[in-house]
Amino acid sequence: MDTLYLVVPCYNEEEVLMETSKRLIVKVSDLIKKETISEKSKIVFVDDGSKDKTWQIIESLHKENGLISGIKLSRNRGHQNALLAGLMTAKEHADMVISLDADLQDDIDAIDKFIEEYYKGNDVVYGVRSSRETDTFFKRNTALGFYKFMTALGVDIVNNHADYRLMSKRALEGLASYREINLFLRGIVPLIGYKSSVVTYERAERFAGESKYPLKKMLAFAFDGITSFSIKPIRLITSLGFTIFVLSLFTLAYSLIAKFTGNTVSGWTSIVSSIWLLGGIQLLALGIIGEYIGKIYTEVKDRPRYIIDKFIN
Ligand code: UDP
Ligand code: MG
Repeated sequence: MDTLYLVVPCYNEEEVLMETSKRLIVKVSDLIKKETISEKSKIVFVDDGSKDKTWQIIESLHKENGLISGIKLSRNRGHQNALLAGLMTAKEHADMVISLDADLQDDIDAIDKFIEEYYKGNDVVYGVRSSRETDTFFKRNTALGFYKFMTALGVDIVNNHADYRLMSKRALEGLASYREINLFLRGIVPLIGYKSSVVTYERAERFAGESKYPLKKMLAFAFDGITSFSIKPIRLITSLGFTIFVLSLFTLAYSLIAKFTGNTVSGWTSIVSSIWLLGGIQLLALGIIGEYIGKIYTEVKDRPRYIIDKFIN
């Protein structure tokens, strides 16, 4: 029997913590009783620098019940960093770790299926939302567009998967070798590799409290995801520059013809052709410089170049 840790990032979640911990304790005790997971399994709440009573609640929960652990970050570092802190701490003690939100929007009954998939030999199990009925029209469509856009940019991302997933100890060790600061976990996890599978679930509504992801944070997160995983936008500048350069040759020819057929004002030809030619050359040059910046960017991220799955010796 393997040990499971649940990692739950919490930011100002005093309204949901009691109920969430109650439900999670029932779940984990049940799994321990069924001998699906070991009795060393735990629920880890990560307090992401909350300003309300979140930490006090975690502390008292821990005193009442041995299943509950807590991590308190020194200040608010954002969902992804809080999650990473929890995952990296949990991997020292657990064989598998499942991350989920404090508001229980992710159906906790899917946990059984996650573990089943883990025992089938999967190192990563992605929780995927089967429908987005509980999301607003706006959120549903922007999210859909975002996943499509990411795929178009060549980023390997699991559609409709947020941060509800199971990772094995060695998958987490793989994750630890990604040293980047701008975290976009759902983009990094597929890069780790190993055998993975998908479990679908219905996403519920937040049962209490408000979303800690206002539109502004959501947009920043999406932008982070794009710029951390794709240098295609830079390539776009290069091709635009090239296209304008080619067009400028036609404009040059056209303005010369216009000049010699005599229907231009003096000075027009030189101005028009230099605008196009220079514009094209400048964009092209920017794109080329961008290519090098893109290279520096990927080097600086210092991502692992490989992770070994098996070694037969
Ligand atoms: N969260 C966090 N730090 C933050 C913002 C959010 O740890 O700075 C946590 C939050 O407590 C919750 C999870 O991240 O457990 C997801 O947030 P939320 O449910 O508000 O996002 P939504 O479901 O609305 O996208
Ligand atoms: Mg939520």
